[in-house]
Amino acid sequence: LLAGDFATLPDLLAAHARERPDKVALADERGTLSYAALDRLAARIAASLQREGVRAGEAVAIVAAPSTDYAAVFMGILYAGAAATPISPSATPAAIAGMIADSGARIVFADAVNAAALSGETLPTRVVFGASFDAWLAPEDARPTPVSIAPEDAFNIIYSSGTTGKPKGIVQSHAMRWQHLSRNSAAGFDEAVTMIATPLYSNTTLVSFLPTLGWGGTAVLMGKFDVGGYLALAERHRATHTMLVPVQYQRLMAYPGFDDHDLSSFRFKTSTSAPFHADLKADVLARWPGFLVEYYGMTEGGASCALNCTAHPDKLHTVGQPLPGHEVRLIDDDGNEVAAGEMGEVVGRSPAMMNGYHGRDGATREAEWHDAEGRRFIRHGDVGRFDADGFLILMDRKKDLIISGGFNIYPSDLEAVLAQHPAVADCTVIGVPSADWGETPVGVYVAKGGATDEAETIRQWANERLGRTQRLSALHRADELPRSAIGKVLKRELRERLLGTVA
Ligand code: ATP
Ligand code: MG
Repeated sequence: LLAGDFATLPDLLAAHARERPDKVALADERGTLSYAALDRLAARIAASLQREGVRAGEAVAIVAAPSTDYAAVFMGILYAGAAATPISPSATPAAIAGMIADSGARIVFADAVNAAALSGETLPTRVVFGASFDAWLAPEDARPTPVSIAPEDAFNIIYSSGTTGKPKGIVQSHAMRWQHLSRNSAAGFDEAVTMIATPLYSNTTLVSFLPTLGWGGTAVLMGKFDVGGYLALAERHRATHTMLVPVQYQRLMAYPGFDDHDLSSFRFKTSTSAPFHADLKADVLARWPGFLVEYYGMTEGGASCALNCTAHPDKLHTVGQPLPGHEVRLIDDDGNEVAAGEMGEVVGRSPAMMNGYHGRDGATREAEWHDAEGRRFIRHGDVGRFDADGFLILMDRKKDLIISGGFNIYPSDLEAVLAQHPAVADCTVIGVPSADWGETPVGVYVAKGGATDEAETIRQWANERLGRTQRLSALHRADELPRSAIGKVLKRELRERLLGTVA
């Protein structure tokens, strides 16, 4: 099926519909959709989009919780040759409207909840899942006028997580997605039953969702993640694959009933998008069957490194090695490569790089770095160093580094110490302005249930274990850390809260 240099996802889906028509492609809380039914529905959606005048390459937006309808619409947009543009429903209505306007989409698909939330915004034509969707759809047997898709054509526009600033629309091509599918040829996705428990607007999710459909597996979609529901659903479907973000692994491992579930069907678990602590990886390896692989990368540049945790239990403090066909370099502030073993900003070159930011050529150029031969790399904005075996030890985002009294402080070093305290369940460290030092590190932690230790005692405990220039000048207790919908700690938001201003 995957022979040849290039096939589009619509080609693959149509082939699955012929070869395995009755196989379940998609399942959610309400029901299932076979490959034949998915192909038929996607074709009707594409025909309807063409009736609306949607042309190849233009963005069509989706704002909804994961469901089989959502997945079918995503595929229908691709069948029409347009660019699927999934938008985060957890952004504010104004921010959602902003992203839709930025993408240039003229049609927006929303579920009922999001349609209601967006009712006050000026938006292009909306199609709401439910009655209005059914009425809008072309007849049962409708198929789109065939469109020819070139490798460099836009497959999707994904908005970055917005962890460090305003989300940027990242244009990924069909070729880039094809590369990604091919790379996953050994991961057994053709027989996969993949649990999709993160939102579909995130690249984190698409990197397991798209290979599942591309290879003819079954994707089980959870509308909203909860630990008990996830375990029950995984057990019921005999799930084999899953992509979860670290905070989800953390919650699953802390769940009292975890070990009572039969998870022996699992073969391939992955994680990406945020720091995944070595102790947590070890816990997952010990208690959850199947391989565990961590990916490190960004929406703009694809996965740059991967760590097969199962094969390298001594390297759990790293994010692994560059994937085959990928190159990772480390550069200094002047854009020169650092010496072996030194710390530097990560730049990566891969077959899965973005075309660019949608409508922002200046920002695209700023995100690029070129080597001596003029080859394009993407700046990751993260700082790290390679160990002697070529495994990448990731420190922090460059924007989160703290410069205090002329010293560079890596928040991740301080977080690692704080996390060792028996009363600390979760923690983060940020820099705040200081009249004496320029910036100074401040910690925020969440206490373990039942722990009564004073924040000040914990701060002193940590400072005894930290270098003289690293010491925490304050430690605050919080009920939880602010996180994005994909589980990233929002340091930007914490800084604003602590300072009472926009930092
Ligand atoms: P924005 O660019 O809008 O601020 P974002 O950078 O969070 O948001 P993404 O492309 O979703 O948007 O995330 C990429 C970033 O996620 C990386 O630059 C890195 O900081 C972090 N990341 C990804 N994988 C890992 C990992 N395995 N370990 C630690 N951090 C990771
Ligand atoms: Mg980023």
